[in-house]
Amino acid sequence: MAIALLDAPLQQALSEANLQSSATFTPAQVEALGQATARDIDALALALLPLARQKASAPVSHFQVGAIAVGGSGHWYLGANLEVPGLPLNHSLHAEQAAIGHAALWGEQSIAKIVVSASPCGHCRQFMNELNQPDSLTVLLPDGGHDLGDLLPHAFGPADLGIREGMLSAGAGQFTLNDEDPLLLAALTEANASYAPYSGNRAGVALALDDGRVCRGRYLENAAFNPSLSPMQLALSQLMLGGGHGGQITRAVLVERQAPIQQYETAAQTLSRFTAIPLAKMMIK
Ligand SMILES: [Zn+2]
Repeated sequence: MAIALLDAPLQQALSEANLQSSATFTPAQVEALGQATARDIDALALALLPLARQKASAPVSHFQVGAIAVGGSGHWYLGANLEVPGLPLNHSLHAEQAAIGHAALWGEQSIAKIVVSASPCGHCRQFMNELNQPDSLTVLLPDGGHDLGDLLPHAFGPADLGIREGMLSAGAGQFTLNDEDPLLLAALTEANASYAPYSGNRAGVALALDDGRVCRGRYLENAAFNPSLSPMQLALSQLMLGGGHGGQITRAVLVERQAPIQQYETAAQTLSRFTAIPLAKMMIK
């Protein structure tokens, strides 16, 4: 039962609004849930975290983490951790990254707040530091709100490498492909929307599912390199957030720009841990 850990009033409010499986909440839905459960916005966000946590896939740690990214538009985006069976731990996606990537896919230009049940790890603090340049953001924990600048003092960030735009507001690529395949064009759209100021390796992934849905991912790079979020990680995270599984994938496409680094081999290896469907590749220049 996906919402078994939620308290009864919130569970009832979600059921009545038919939101018990939702991973994205509009401002109107947030307001209605707050009124139905007599909670202020921050208390509601913290109470909703179990809904995100239930979407985690943690076969190694069995430690499920949920997070919510509150976009500048007021929409809420759930995220959960994703561990890849059989691959080293550095292939893991953290809940905060999943939530931020989720917001990116919905076109958010900035993140106002990250909500999480325990203090974010250093890796996630570094990932968040790529947002909203040069302004910071709020990390909401059960003990209250914290400025990211206080959680990550003396930070190394994009400005140290001459990057002034935020991860979600940097300019889009203008690459085109002479092809009409909708799945390929979906991956191209994500490649153009990706953020790769350090390598130039714009990249996007699109996964077609047997129910007609398409899960997308885009590359989100980081000044510290290692916390970068790969397009395949994000697409698989979207699959899990939507209640899907690898067996539903019918086609998989990666579009990436020729650059000193490349996604394909790692992306194909990661995908192979979830499905035998091969990863198709198209290069852009
Ligand atoms: Zn983390």
